Amino acid sequence: MTNPERDPHEVALAPGDTACGVEVLAPREVPLGGPRAMTVRRTLPQRERSLIGAWCFVDHYGPDLVSETGGMKVAPHPHTGLQTVSWLFTGEIEHRDSAGHHAMVRPGEVNLMTAGRGISHSEVSTAGTSELHGAQLWVALPDGSRDVAPGFEHHTPDPVIGDGWEARVFLGSLLGDTSPVSTHTPLLGAELLLAAGTTLELDVDSSFEHGVLLDRGVAGVAGQEGKPGELVYVAPGRDSFTLEAHEDVRALLLGGPPFGESIVMWWNFVGRTHEEVVGFREEWQAQVDGVADSQDVRPGRYGVVVGDHLPPIPAPALPNARLRERR
Ligand code: MN
Repeated sequence: MTNPERDPHEVALAPGDTACGVEVLAPREVPLGGPRAMTVRRTLPQRERSLIGAWCFVDHYGPDLVSETGGMKVAPHPHTGLQTVSWLFTGEIEHRDSAGHHAMVRPGEVNLMTAGRGISHSEVSTAGTSELHGAQLWVALPDGSRDVAPGFEHHTPDPVIGDGWEARVFLGSLLGDTSPVSTHTPLLGAELLLAAGTTLELDVDSSFEHGVLLDRGVAGVAGQEGKPGELVYVAPGRDSFTLEAHEDVRALLLGGPPFGESIVMWWNFVGRTHEEVVGFREEWQAQVDGVADSQDVRPGRYGVVVGDHLPPIPAPALPNARLRERR
């Protein structure tokens, strides 16, 4: 997915309730663009919180009826310095990228695309999809890994099932299951389903900070109530916390040790300095202009999406101010 915001950090948002290292982060609605655009609920980044571990971007969308929103039709666009993690609850999305990967994103299956030094990709909901519901997540790559070659991994976790709950661990380890998907910093990503009235104690790594994105149902997270659409942040220093389902709950649990590096994030790029991101933008725009002029396209950093004929998305204009470093 592409980020239509010029600078996501310029949007002021109240950080929400704070108590005992637990904060409720409210979403803001962001239209993805286009005449019948899908709208997403964005909970990361926020003015007061840029990252949870290496997780740097959390977009939650749907359930949307494709007949009303037109579904997802995101033409080729670039990424640098990050990994995209796609998780669906309902629907199907076709992924194509410039490293030659072609994959279907389906409920219960994680798709992780590594941009590394640069990739371009497209995401289009399939013709058979009538409802779209899911999350698009980004992971910032640490300095030592951000120039790696682009890549793509897919995994279908077996559910871990307990009394009144079910978990699918798509990154890292939780509840006795470990995902085989490789990451460049320690990370946790899992879908949790809890029946109303269930309390689940989660044993976690105390060096991790966590975020619980509530998709469905009101829940207590480490004693703080969260509502659907909210992301409940839990600070490091706990080796366990509880989830209490006040209703039937579906949630995503994200975690990792505090990232510890400053990043500059703008449009679809994660870099380290203003100048670097300006350069990423120029390289993409030169490629887009080459396509528009039907010149010999030199794909350079981002390559050309294999098997997609949608025109690439031009880069938005840079803001007048310098891009801010975030950590
Ligand atoms: Mn994307």
